[in-house]
Amino acid sequence: MNSVSSTSEPDSRPSDFFALTAGEFRERVRSLGLPAYRGEQVLAWVYKRFVADFDEMSDLSKPDRSALGAAFRFRLPSVSRVSRSSDRLTTKLLLALDDGAAVEGVVMHHPRRRPTLCVSVQVGCAQGCLFCATGSMGLSRNMTAAEILAEIWLLRRHMIREDKVDAVPTLVFMGMGEPLDNEEGFFRALAMLNSQEGFGLGSRKITVSTVGGPDRIRRLAELGLQLQLAVSLHAATDSLRGRLVPGQKGVAVAELVDAARYYFQKTGREVTFEYVVIQRVNDSEEDATRLAGLLRGFPGKVNLIPFNPVSHNAMKPPEPEALARFRELLTRASIKVTIRHSQGRDINAACGQLAVRERQASTPQVMRYA
Ligand code: SAH
Ligand code: SF4
Repeated sequence: MNSVSSTSEPDSRPSDFFALTAGEFRERVRSLGLPAYRGEQVLAWVYKRFVADFDEMSDLSKPDRSALGAAFRFRLPSVSRVSRSSDRLTTKLLLALDDGAAVEGVVMHHPRRRPTLCVSVQVGCAQGCLFCATGSMGLSRNMTAAEILAEIWLLRRHMIREDKVDAVPTLVFMGMGEPLDNEEGFFRALAMLNSQEGFGLGSRKITVSTVGGPDRIRRLAELGLQLQLAVSLHAATDSLRGRLVPGQKGVAVAELVDAARYYFQKTGREVTFEYVVIQRVNDSEEDATRLAGLLRGFPGKVNLIPFNPVSHNAMKPPEPEALARFRELLTRASIKVTIRHSQGRDINAACGQLAVRERQASTPQVMRYA
């Protein structure tokens, strides 16, 4: 049952709470003959106190709790494994979806910044990037908006209950999968995240990382949201990018940059170009000079991501000198550059290291790519 639209479901079947917008939920509660404030109470329990069990909602009368329990259910993935990094700053949750498919989500803490939740949107990924563990799995299926929301809810509950950090997190769609390959589930999830009665996470706190392509970035711009956009570029020539990101073969890097410029014009948000730096693949001075040429005058920045090892290939991170030189060449060309220090490598929770294989539908298993 992958549909996120519950409007066609017969009333006799309990609706998945996370498939409903806050407005739809309140409407359903009213149609059960319950007072309007009941809906608001439940929303507060779920999104403010992170309780997803009507029996625990102590300010609801017993008959109302059972009416709600008959009408709605909380379809949460089960947490099959919790892995914590040795510095305890990063936690990876392995989640089993209803059909046994497994995905991973990550909670990251920083000494000086807000916590960040790294979210998956697909089971696997069809883009096949050579350097990415998820890409080596292929795509099993899209996640529904309800599954994405339930995933975020679980990550946030973990952050509050287990890590005892009750701050508004930032969200990065940098887990498993390509958000724009799952426009239906992803766009609906975005709309629901924004709702004040629900998660109340403004678009400015959300980063979407995507390989493109240009048309899809333009569509994202048309949503009129203030999302932070990160475009996974990785190469300054069409041929190298086509090899590294096979799913985008045939897409000109110049067109991708044009689409990013359009995104900036439409939203006013500066775009980041992500560039996974891989030893002797795309880390030469020539690569840096070409990249500087491609992005000359672009109102955004480059985020260099030193390659995180995965076991399905022999790629290596760049030598520190090569990385420093690469950065310097971009800086000299007046391009803003940051270097991402990935967290959670020891539990394979860093960028590109998320990969899960299912042995059987009911027994998800992590493949350790280390
Ligand atoms: N599919 C989207 C979002 C998920 S990947 C995308 O590709 O943008 C999130 C980020 O991790 C991307 O920038 C991706 O290029 C990067 N990444 C993937 N594999 C990596 C690896 N092995 N080391 C470092 N970064 C990696
Ligand atoms: Fe998919 Fe992103 Fe990994 Fe590429 S880097 S395979 S697009 S998840």
